Amino acid sequence: MTAFLPSGVVFPKFKKKHSPKQTYTTKYTNGNIAVTPEAIKLPKLGLVALFPKKTNRKRLQSLLDGTLKIQTATITRTATGYTVSLSVQEVVAISQPVDLTADYRCVGIDLGLKTFAVVYDGKDFADYSHGAYIKQAEKKLAKLQQQLARCQKGSKNYDKQRTKVAKRHEHIANQRKDFHHKLSTIIANENQVVVVEDLNIRGMVKNHKLAKAISNAGWRQFITFLAYKLDWRGGRLVKVNRFFASSRLCSACGHQSVALTLDERHCACSHCGTVHDRDHNASVNIRNEGLRLLAV
Ligand SMILES: [Zn+2]
Repeated sequence: MTAFLPSGVVFPKFKKKHSPKQTYTTKYTNGNIAVTPEAIKLPKLGLVALFPKKTNRKRLQSLLDGTLKIQTATITRTATGYTVSLSVQEVVAISQPVDLTADYRCVGIDLGLKTFAVVYDGKDFADYSHGAYIKQAEKKLAKLQQQLARCQKGSKNYDKQRTKVAKRHEHIANQRKDFHHKLSTIIANENQVVVVEDLNIRGMVKNHKLAKAISNAGWRQFITFLAYKLDWRGGRLVKVNRFFASSRLCSACGHQSVALTLDERHCACSHCGTVHDRDHNASVNIRNEGLRLLAV
């Protein structure tokens, strides 16, 4: 639950003066934190005008009618202003766990750099990528960073430019989060079992590339969303070891370590000759491995 605070009101002092992200949390006791449709009551600050994000209006309503209960309020200074995040207690009806002896829908997901997720349901593949808007935003960010490099450190222009860069970073992070929420909801609604690669194992492989590190964080966020959404619906998330399951296995004949690289996207099985789309082949193997683990 996030809401924007307006400028012009008195703000609390933060402990770390020069950290880019400043934040403090207060606990709820005896009605010291409360919301009305237009304002939020915070300890020490009193009533502060509230500008809820569009996506939070429904939750704000639940707070007003008492279905949600406030536990803590965290006030953060971000690049775009002050926000207050409320941690709330919500009673969620958890569905019965999926019956694995009956029919259930299961997908395998291969997470990648170019295509964010390849989803295989046993019959068809679906490719999901971040929209072109993120690429655009990233291009703009790169430009802003270039301009920042040209500014003299400590100058007024440098500070201004640094704020611009931080704002753009925040914007992109929000776009990614939105995408992860939408995709995880679709997948959790349509399936009872979802198989993904275990990122902890994947992370053990040395990789110093920044792009990869950022994607890794994105994958983690996506899997976290997916896990709790499946949980609510009684579904199941299965994690498999990608290196055994997907990269070198031919999904057509089951041969291991036989993939010949043809180009960036394709590989061929030296045993049966099948030409695979790499990401598709991986998603099939991930799904198969998940089903195998569930059966034992
Ligand atoms: Zn083969």
